[in-house]
Amino acid sequence: MFDLHVHTIHSADGRQTVEEACEAAIRRGLRGIAVCDHADMWFSEKLNTPAEIRACMEDVRRARRIYGDRLEILQGVEMAEYLDDPEGADRILSQEGFDVVLGSVHSLRLEDIDDSYSRVDFSEMPEEQIHRFMKKYFFLMSEMIEKTDFDVLTHLTCPLRYVNGKYKRGVDPLCFEKEILTVFGQIIEKDIPLELNTSGIHSFYGRYMPDPSLLRAYADMGGRLITVASDAHAPQYIGNAFPEARALLRELGFDAYCVFRKRKLFQYGF
Ligand SMILES: [Zn+2]
Ligand SMILES: [Zn+2]
Repeated sequence: MFDLHVHTIHSADGRQTVEEACEAAIRRGLRGIAVCDHADMWFSEKLNTPAEIRACMEDVRRARRIYGDRLEILQGVEMAEYLDDPEGADRILSQEGFDVVLGSVHSLRLEDIDDSYSRVDFSEMPEEQIHRFMKKYFFLMSEMIEKTDFDVLTHLTCPLRYVNGKYKRGVDPLCFEKEILTVFGQIIEKDIPLELNTSGIHSFYGRYMPDPSLLRAYADMGGRLITVASDAHAPQYIGNAFPEARALLRELGFDAYCVFRKRKLFQYGF
């Protein structure tokens, strides 16, 4: 299989080189990986610059020379909050050589909150405010799908990893069914695959993103396009829980997963 979402030291939170990621993928028996370092347009963090992405591309080119006969190494980028700085985002995306662009929502502004949801303290937040927060998250996702150009919708419901995983607030994703079904309708219409993200499995969350119940709702609406992604920031998580994810997807009726080359979609049977 292909792991279509992997981070390296070219992300501020990455803890593996491109070469270490490739070696881990080969050990796991994967066919390929997509190196998708962060380009968050919200914060001026170290690694959202065109120069850093160029450095990542250079590492990917070198890795292809070393591992290319054993592993397909795709060049990606995880673009978040594109609409907060469209010119900056375009400067990154105008560079040649991307195989796949991931579309993500990582941060939002709501009332007194103005940060990445991974840094928000949900422990004391009133449930009503959590609901408004989640609705804003899905609204931003819908806006991103409508107005920006990307290939794969990542880690749908990711704030619940913190709300429910880290802070144990027990919020039911089905509270946002209307918003989620709107997102599914949009990506199905645009032929944008949904990512099954396995990074929660071996964390405090212990779940896929999105939940199997939502994957089923996507399939019921006619959604067929899916990618499988570890979102690994360290070698031990590359291809994390892929056999289980594949079994789940087959059970839900998905018979293929998606890969992108030069931003063109290809599908492979499970
Ligand atoms: Zn992300
Ligand atoms: Zn990521």
